[in-house]
Amino acid sequence: AVRYVRGIYGIINTSKQCMITEVEMQLKYKRVIIKISGEALMSEKEQPLDFDIVGKVADQLIEIANMGAQIGIIIGGGNIWRGRSGGDMDRVQADHMGMLATVINALALQDALQRKGQPARVLTAIDMPQVAERYVRGRAVKHLEKNRIVIFAGGTGNPFFSTDTGAALRAAEMNVNLLLLAKNVDAVYTADPKIDPNAKRIDNISYIEIIEKGYTLMDYSALTLCMDNGIPIMVFGLGEKDGIKRAVCGEKIGTLIK
Ligand code: UDP
Repeated sequence: AVRYVRGIYGIINTSKQCMITEVEMQLKYKRVIIKISGEALMSEKEQPLDFDIVGKVADQLIEIANMGAQIGIIIGGGNIWRGRSGGDMDRVQADHMGMLATVINALALQDALQRKGQPARVLTAIDMPQVAERYVRGRAVKHLEKNRIVIFAGGTGNPFFSTDTGAALRAAEMNVNLLLLAKNVDAVYTADPKIDPNAKRIDNISYIEIIEKGYTLMDYSALTLCMDNGIPIMVFGLGEKDGIKRAVCGEKIGTLIK
């Protein structure tokens, strides 16, 4: 019997010498920060949270947690509110609303994880002790070491920033080797593939090229923070089958920025 399984080096044939050895996917990155944008959790009917999607994300996270990964999640809030949608509103006030939106998403994901038996903690960048623990670096590290999934809510805790920057910041603080950006597109393209049929998918790109070419897949303060700290970023689609697991196992499934 010929059996192909996915390993860290891609697809390999395990039928050599008639021995069938199941090669498990192995973690390449032991500790990761995964940024999940709020929009990726939306339902097709534009309801802010699709619990089916949230459940599937939780399943993928539990799978890699069981493989020994230490997982930090930064969750966006764009499915509920973005500061820049506030029109004439005071921007700081509008951003506070955005940060609260990320807390709503964080609680939904924590609930999904815990109902499936996976310990998870929400740590907020803004104090709300009745709801969740406050973010303290040492506390976050301790949770990660105990294989609890840590969900960082509230972004950086400051207006005028985004959860991308929050993700880059937490990635640097947690000393991770890879920042995973789970989006609702599967990679970086030269143009919006939904609008431009000539849009080309990019497999590898440098931080600087992203800025030079004006690609807007993530905000530049997040990008430069990763560049300054040598943290590579993998952009991939949350809808990819086993996307999170494959990325953490070192498979290049979207666009690698470094
Ligand atoms: N936000 C903020 N500071 C932060 C992170 C987020 O003010 O450090 C606010 C901001 O208004 C932002 C909103 O929270 O628009 C939701 O976050 P984001 O837009 O990053 O969510 P995503 O687009 O990833 O779903």
